[in-house]
This record gives sequence, C-alpha cells and structure tokens, in this order.
Amino acid sequence: MMFCPKCGAIMSFKQGVWKCNRCGYEMHANNSGRRVTLSRVIKHSEKEKTIVIEDQKIAVPPTAVLVKDQVRCPKCEHNEVYAWQIQTRAADEPSTTFYRCTKCGYTWREY
Ligand SMILES: [Zn+2]
Ligand SMILES: [Zn+2]
Repeated sequence: MMFCPKCGAIMSFKQGVWKCNRCGYEMHANNSGRRVTLSRVIKHSEKEKTIVIEDQKIAVPPTAVLVKDQVRCPKCEHNEVYAWQIQTRAADEPSTTFYRCTKCGYTWREY
C-alpha cells in the first residue's frame, strides 16, 4: 500500500502508476523507491550453536513428546516443552533434538 506524499491519502496502483485517490497526485512505480518486502527476518548465528532462531516454522511432528521440568524455554522460562529428534544426514551422526515451548511456541534445537 502506498500513501500520497502530498496529502497522505491512500493511493491506488494502475498500469505502473500510483495515483492518489484524493488529490490526484501521480507517481510512477519506478520512482517510488525501494519496495520493502515484509519477508520473515531470519537470524542466523554461527556462534550460537545451541540456539537457532530460524526454526520457528518447523512443525511439531506427531512423535514429539511432552517434557516437563527437564528443559526450560530460553525465552519465557516455561518448563513444559515438546521434544523430538531428527536424524541428520549420516547415520553415525548424532540426531538433533528439537524443543518447542508449549507456552510461547519458541523453537530451538540442541546439538
Ligand atoms: Zn494526495
Ligand atoms: Zn517459552
């Protein structure tokens, strides 16, 4: 959505041109500056091997078990989480344990 730089009203987009519904101000899409894409911000840190924030969208599989009092959510300190394991690449590699907080939904993994 675009707002008119002149009067602040909502502009409509037609054939490559933004036109203000109120004052008629026109602006070509090419000159309207960079369009901000509201894609998911992915934070990835190589240093933090234990906590990876990129996994928020991972679905909890049916094999996940409810773990109480053993693991704490690093975000809200809730002590009830879902835990499940995913086998990575080679069979001799240790599987990755995922956790999801039942309270705030925060997901992280442990190597
Ligand atoms: Zn206007
Ligand atoms: Zn939490």
